[in-house]
Amino acid sequence: MTTIRTSVGVFSSIFVVSCLSLARAQHANLSAHVHGASELNIVIGGNKLEIQLRSPAINILGFEHKASTEQQIRKVKQSEVKLNDHNALFSFSSGGCRLTQAKIDLSDLIEHKTTEKDAHDHHKNDLDHSQEQEDEHGDHSEIVAHYYYDCEDMDELSSISLGFFDVFPAMQQIKSMLITTSGQGAASLTRSNKTITF
Ligand SMILES: [Zn+2]
Repeated sequence: MTTIRTSVGVFSSIFVVSCLSLARAQHANLSAHVHGASELNIVIGGNKLEIQLRSPAINILGFEHKASTEQQIRKVKQSEVKLNDHNALFSFSSGGCRLTQAKIDLSDLIEHKTTEKDAHDHHKNDLDHSQEQEDEHGDHSEIVAHYYYDCEDMDELSSISLGFFDVFPAMQQIKSMLITTSGQGAASLTRSNKTITF
């Protein structure tokens, strides 16, 4: 993340590219993929505040293979609901920030059985082994979520406290980066130190 020294506009473009080619981005980013650790980027420009979470899927779902059983698919859907519950994830000290949009799409993490043959082939890959296969082949997956806020008084905003450690207990560390038009800062958050101070 230290390579991002660019303007807010370019940073947003990187977000878009990440979303469009998530699979490729994941491979490029594999060195940063540490189970238990996530990245949170906060970009502030004018009265707009953007938050991007990038996390190994295992921190949120408990697995990284595609969900195929009813139970796994339910887990994905529940996680999507939890990720959408922004009030549980972010507590703003002040500033009058209101969420205008959240972009969370975990549909890629659900196995789409298109044909009977596919379904049959998949069945052969016994689910008990899917985790092993994933480890063996280094097949990791990540979840990216975006939150967009409008703030009435950005100057008043002094901190954001994170609820991720409570909502997703497998999260152990969140590396946060704050990017404003005047500079940037980084912090490492944990369960016992979960407040980003500006
Ligand atoms: Zn992984």
